[in-house]
Amino acid sequence: MSQVHRHNVYNWQLGRDMDYTHDAPRPDRQVAWVFDTNKCIACQTCTVACKQTWTWGSGQEYMLWNNVETKPYGFFPTGWDVHLLEMLGPGPWENGEYKGKTVFEAASLKEDVKGWQPESEHWTYPNLGEDEPAGLAEQGSYSGEFPHDTWFFYLARICNHCTYPACLSACPRDAIYKRPEDGIVLVDQERCRGYQECTSACPYKKVMFNNTTGTSEKCIACFPKIEQGLQPQCVTTCIGRIRIAGFINPPDVVDERNPIDFLVKVRKVALPLYPQSGTEPNVYYVPPIHTPREYTRQMFGPGVDEAIENYMNAKDDPELLGLMMLLGSTERIMHTFEVENDIARGFDADGEEIVAVPLREPTFIREYFDDVHDTYLHNIT
Ligand code: SF4
Ligand code: SF4
Repeated sequence: MSQVHRHNVYNWQLGRDMDYTHDAPRPDRQVAWVFDTNKCIACQTCTVACKQTWTWGSGQEYMLWNNVETKPYGFFPTGWDVHLLEMLGPGPWENGEYKGKTVFEAASLKEDVKGWQPESEHWTYPNLGEDEPAGLAEQGSYSGEFPHDTWFFYLARICNHCTYPACLSACPRDAIYKRPEDGIVLVDQERCRGYQECTSACPYKKVMFNNTTGTSEKCIACFPKIEQGLQPQCVTTCIGRIRIAGFINPPDVVDERNPIDFLVKVRKVALPLYPQSGTEPNVYYVPPIHTPREYTRQMFGPGVDEAIENYMNAKDDPELLGLMMLLGSTERIMHTFEVENDIARGFDADGEEIVAVPLREPTFIREYFDDVHDTYLHNIT
């Protein structure tokens, strides 16, 4: 086996250049998501919406392109991020720059990517650790008492449609490709021969093997909806309104009116998941505000403290507050937004207004008694 050829690429999430095994120019547009972990209630509506849309077929019984796991003890597949952290080791960050190794840099000279292959058992417990808190509670206490030392949070996950996909890098058949028009990463089902190099390589374990078809499958970002200017199923069905999908600009371009740019690059409240993987994932998370900071920094990188501070200030930041209220308010993709006179508005790619949301809802107090219908309007029991 010959040595793998490597290219030098810029990864803005690491604050430095890195090795990647493909000559990978950025796509013309890159689809991206923001998920607010603080608002997720683990209702799994997104999981079911995705499953009913895309993975109801034979061989897909345990396949969840979208899943929601309880951290720190929930995983799908079992132990996915523990394996990743063990493989990479404790890579330090210095002044926003990652000094450790990515999955590409940790690979041997003959490997594309350093990875691990889950066993089929690892895929069979998607609800492992659900609602299981970390920390010790005193006997007789309950978690409604504050302060308390127990904690958990919900982490909703889909494929990150990475800028430097490890799955694509590892495929010996060139069956995985990244679309230049929107950055969506897809597996060509005709070319795939089921070698499963991608399932081993993906640090997030978001490519899954279908034993019936003998091919690998993954989240397709609901591309038929994206092509029509609509947000994916997991976004529009989200009960907690924690999600938004849109397009992120390249690292050197910041458009303050672009909702994703605003959350990721201007207010910096949304951060990549395990940026140390090196794939430049494009799902960004508002980190949980109540978890131990060391744990949260390990998961979302060094921007955690600033993100939480800015997020906690949203009540005094009408632009951020307005944008957060626009999450889940429209099925259409919002290309720009503005907040004026206590109203947040979203616009499509042509600048047409598609949604308007007031920052504050008026309060109406009902009369105590309805004379017309001769009945009490309040609960009098
Ligand atoms: S999350 Fe995994 S499957 Fe998705 S693009 Fe990145 S490396 Fe590929
Ligand atoms: S639908 Fe929304 S709130 Fe419910 S589990 Fe999914 S991400 Fe969380």
